[in-house]
Order: sequence, then C-alpha cells, then structure tokens
Amino acid sequence: MICIYNEDLAPDGKPFQVVELSNPNGMKVRLTDWGATWLACQLPIVGQLRDVVLGCKTVAEHSKQGAYLGATVGRFANRIANAAFTLNGKHYQLDANQQQKHQLHGGSQAFDKRRWQILAHSDDSVEFGLHSPDGDQGFAGNVEVKVRYRLRDDNGLLVEFDALADQDTPLNLTNHTYFNLDGESAEQNVLQHRLKIDADFYLPVDSEGIPKAPLTTVAGSGFDFRQAKTLAQDFLSDADQQLVAGYDHAFLLAHHGLDGAPQVELTSANGDMSLQVFTDQPAIQVYSGNFLANTPNRSGSVYANHAGVALETQSLPDTPNHPEWFQYGGISRAGERYHKSTLFLFKVQE
Ligand code: BGC
Repeated sequence: MICIYNEDLAPDGKPFQVVELSNPNGMKVRLTDWGATWLACQLPIVGQLRDVVLGCKTVAEHSKQGAYLGATVGRFANRIANAAFTLNGKHYQLDANQQQKHQLHGGSQAFDKRRWQILAHSDDSVEFGLHSPDGDQGFAGNVEVKVRYRLRDDNGLLVEFDALADQDTPLNLTNHTYFNLDGESAEQNVLQHRLKIDADFYLPVDSEGIPKAPLTTVAGSGFDFRQAKTLAQDFLSDADQQLVAGYDHAFLLAHHGLDGAPQVELTSANGDMSLQVFTDQPAIQVYSGNFLANTPNRSGSVYANHAGVALETQSLPDTPNHPEWFQYGGISRAGERYHKSTLFLFKVQE
C-alpha cells in the first residue's frame, strides 16, 4: 500500500487520506478514508491502463457528487419507506433524505459522508473503521463497523464488512461502485455490456423505488438475466423498468458464497474483459445509472446516463418494514457479529 499525498481538504477540514493498492500484474486500486470509498481501479490491457470504475478528477469533487460513486453505504443501503419502521414494538423515525419522505442509503449524513479511520494496512490491503453512535440518522444502538479491501494477485478485490451493534438495528452494508469495463472514459455507455445474474426473482418497486409487490419471478420479463444478455436487449421493455427509467432493482440471488460459480458476470462490449462477482450477500441491486447525467467524471467533464452500472450486493430494500424478508438479513441483533464479503474478480482476455 502506498499513501498518496493529497492537499485537498475533506468536509471536516482535514486532508483526505488516499491509498493505493497494487499487485504484480500492474493492477491498481485507489481508496480514500472519506466514506471508505473505492475511487479508481486500473487494469493493464494490451499495454494500456484502463480505469473500469466511475470516479471524479479530484477527491474533493468525488466527495461532493451525489451518485454514491464507490462509496461504502450504511447503515441501511437502499430505501426505507417513509423513513420509518417498527422494531421490537418500538417506532423509529429516521432522517428522510429522499424527497424529504423516504430514507436512501442511510440518511443525509450516512457512512458515505463520514471520516473513517485507517485501522490497519499492508502491501495489499487496507482496513477502515467507523463508530456509528446511538441515534445516528435515527437508528438505535452503537455500531462498530469495519470494511477491509484486499487486492489479490488474481485481479480480485475482496471487500469484507464486519460490524457489531449493541442494540437490535437495521444494518445493510454495501459498496456502491459503478463499473464500465470498456473504460470509465469510453464513448459508449454500459448498455452494450453483457450481464448474467443467478437470480430467479426480482423485487418490483414503485416510481420512488419503494418495494410495491412480493418477490416476483424473472421468467418472461426483461429481468431475466439467467442467460447472459446485453443490458440493452430488454432495456425499458417492462412497466416495472419504466417506473424508474431502467434497471434499479434488487435481485434475490439463487446461491451464495465465494466458492463455486460467480453470482453475477459482466462482460465488456467487445468481450475483452469481464467482471465476476462472488458474494455471501442474499441479493444484489442492479442500477443502470439512470440518473447519472451531470455527475463529474475523471477528465473534468461529466458523465451521461448509463455511463456505468452499479452492482450493489446487499439485503432486500425496505426490509425493516417487511418481517417476511428478515430471513434474508438486514436486521442485526445486539451482540451478533455481522460479516459479509464480496469479491470483484476482473478477468482480462489474453
Ligand atoms: C439506487 C438508485 C439511486 C442511486 C444513487 C442506487 O443504489 O438504487 O435509485 O438513484 O443509488 O443514489
């Protein structure tokens, strides 16, 4: 790991800490302690470094964008309807940061907007820690959270979350990186990428992104990615997609764990590289960047809609209001260790 000097000041008035992990193949991953954010990911492809994740020109700019590029999202990734829920008979009112109505990604001052501590580092890894106090964004209990990023020699980035709460609380941690395997600066948007997801069910949502129906079969709909197809193939073909301008839905994964087949596979437009996602999370939110337009990009200009696709492994949205989904996680019990891992494995065609 090397620390990169950065003179920009974060919103707390202190400099950002920026670290870079690299492996013997020449792959480089850049991260910052602000939001425990994954800033950049470069792979050597036919002699050229290609950055395959969306990011901004400076860390300062990155910390101000509203698309959650690369951020660690918590306490509860995705939405909680009406920013409220009842747990153990007690009603909780949360910070409502979507349309002053719902909670999105943990609230207006959530984990992505916080200074994390660098707890440990080595040549190939860095571990960030955060204390989330009782009452944080309306949630009960103190939570100690850790996220560890480890770059492997096989071009895999392993992202591991650990947490411990002292009261029962909703907890749903994810990384919010957007990928474009053609390169973040590619002319072409991500819709020509092929995507495969091992999921038989998806969750329909209303126009505000709130679950509106039970888990629904993907069969016969544009949500069927069980065989690889381009994102473009059935884009906006269903009423459920039209409500949210594209894909922005949770898929319930049919198998879990980091051993065996990947749950998700994304392939660049010309097939020169792919990303395999392995996870022990129960679900994945696939967001086709439907509102990315005007987000600052790495060259100092702005991204267009669909410049990248976010593959956010997590529990189901709005679980705190759906006890029938508690079986898929999303609620952490006091004193019970939370541990979730996701491996993003990049494969370059020889
Ligand atoms: C959500 C989108 C939202 C985006 C940026 C995604 O995780 O599913 O609805 O627009 O994050 O906030």
